[in-house]
Amino acid sequence: MGANVKRYIVLIGPPGAGKGTQAKMLEQSLGLPQVSTGDLFRYNLKHSTELGQLARSYMDKGELVPDGVTIAMVRERLSQPDAAHGAILDGFPRTIAQADALADLLAELGGRITCVPHIIVEREELVRRLLNRAQIEGRVDDSEDTIRTRMRVYEEQTKPLLDYYDQRGLVAEVNGQQSVEAVQHDLQTVITGQRASVR
Ligand code: AMP
Repeated sequence: MGANVKRYIVLIGPPGAGKGTQAKMLEQSLGLPQVSTGDLFRYNLKHSTELGQLARSYMDKGELVPDGVTIAMVRERLSQPDAAHGAILDGFPRTIAQADALADLLAELGGRITCVPHIIVEREELVRRLLNRAQIEGRVDDSEDTIRTRMRVYEEQTKPLLDYYDQRGLVAEVNGQQSVEAVQHDLQTVITGQRASVR
């Protein structure tokens, strides 16, 4: 790969898999910023921007914000100077339409996806983690009903991305049911290409 090719890591995993925690840790070692669409939407919610108002109703229900709005937000974020060498994408893309839009955007920016780690965690463990997070962080979308919707949305809309990226030879499986440090270690292993998958 040429030195000027921007590189993008796409983290895929269900809600509660630990994508955010792991992405933040990867920022240091990879020297790339974490770009979390969930965090961007929450920032807009907090500051009551127009985008935040629009996103609210979807987020409260655990549904996806429409693709057009989400893609425009990511396009803007990936054009910022700190993403000049690429980014760690956390929570985007979540639909095939978003993945297609990302491919177009990266072609424009002169970058490519180098790895799509799939963080695997059993459903029971996910629900346990999300309910726990609801108590600690007080995220409104961590209620039991919303958790169920988010799981369903993940199964129906986001899981197909695994096939999409697998066809492109990019998916690497990582066992997310280990200590935070062990998951981080395994992620670094697959991202640097030392092993295809660590389960
Ligand atoms: P997260 O923090 O990634 O779980 O995202 C929280 C909520 O933000 C999701 O339940 C969606 O309502 C919204 N959201 C985050 N990322 C996306 C995305 N890529 N496409 C659509 N909606 C998203």
